[in-house]
Amino acid sequence: MAERVPNEVQILTTLYKHPNISRSDLSQKLQLNKSSISEYTNQLLDYEIIRENGTGDSTTKGGRKPICLEINYQYGLCLGIDLAPHKITFALCDLQLNIIDYGEQLVDVTKENAMQYISKIIDAQLTPSKAYKGGLLGVAFSIHGIVDKKKIRFTPNYDIYKLDLFHAVSTQYPSLPVHLLNESNASALCEAYNSHVRNLVAVNVGSGLGAGIIIDGRLLQGVNGYAGEIGHAIIVPDGKPCNCGNEGCFEQYCSEGAILSYYNSIARTPLTTITDLIHEYKQGNACAEQTIQRDLKYMALLMNHIMKTIAPEQIIINSDLAYHIAPYTQMLTDMTTTTYKQNIEIISSVFHHRSVILGAVYLAIQEFLHAFV
Ligand SMILES: [Zn+2]
Repeated sequence: MAERVPNEVQILTTLYKHPNISRSDLSQKLQLNKSSISEYTNQLLDYEIIRENGTGDSTTKGGRKPICLEINYQYGLCLGIDLAPHKITFALCDLQLNIIDYGEQLVDVTKENAMQYISKIIDAQLTPSKAYKGGLLGVAFSIHGIVDKKKIRFTPNYDIYKLDLFHAVSTQYPSLPVHLLNESNASALCEAYNSHVRNLVAVNVGSGLGAGIIIDGRLLQGVNGYAGEIGHAIIVPDGKPCNCGNEGCFEQYCSEGAILSYYNSIARTPLTTITDLIHEYKQGNACAEQTIQRDLKYMALLMNHIMKTIAPEQIIINSDLAYHIAPYTQMLTDMTTTTYKQNIEIISSVFHHRSVILGAVYLAIQEFLHAFV
């Protein structure tokens, strides 16, 4: 790969955010003169990473309609792999996040078996990617734990942190750029790609609970990648013990396992999945109603904390309860009693569980555009 040329990278990232703009608009946005813009865009056209796409609006003075530029979204493909404690999901997408291939497999992921599954997925995607000029441009892994750039620091619900995943994949596929990120951060990136707002928090509730934070359009990682680990903020002093070593963490009251465990402690017939709980709730089961109300009470405390520390424009909930109980986010909004909630929306993700995997792919795309030329 040639030496990085920042102006070309700026052009690519600008075109990604503002598709279909003219050279003249690019020149204004980047404060570069028109001849420089022409030189750089001609080179990018030669590489086929961008393309001309029809014409824009004519000028107010009635001048000729300019030819517009956009990213060549079919230049190559990016792969996302979500390594959850009990499931591996992958998505192969073009540069516009259109899914070319997708798959998921229920499996208990361990440090011993992870590479075997990963190799199988990557190997299967190398051949179809060859039909694209750029081939497979990168792979990004979402990890259900704390990730600090190339290192997995801790995964409380499985032992993948004991594997040097970055090194293992980079060694096996030396020409493939490899990226890692936390699963809630992946969700937040996906939501940011889709949202009109520049400040948002994506809250993911599954086997654990975490948040991804986007401030002014950028992911907040914090020292050691610790930002967003709100599932391990304590709400009940001396409360239930947690895998992180503390007691009384949010995760012990609002994660799927915690919710089911509470239901099973008050109901006669135990349930094993959140889907079953949602079904019982919709049937009017009093224990299910009590369980959801208790969950909302703790989640409202979480919303309160997020609103007061970050004040995002949107808090986006990724959970089966939010997806499948229509008034869930409205009930949560109503129960979040603070005078600081004006203009802060609590909404459910439109991507449902795919926000994590699409966010991982989006990271690979962003990294590719930043590393190009
Ligand atoms: Zn904890």
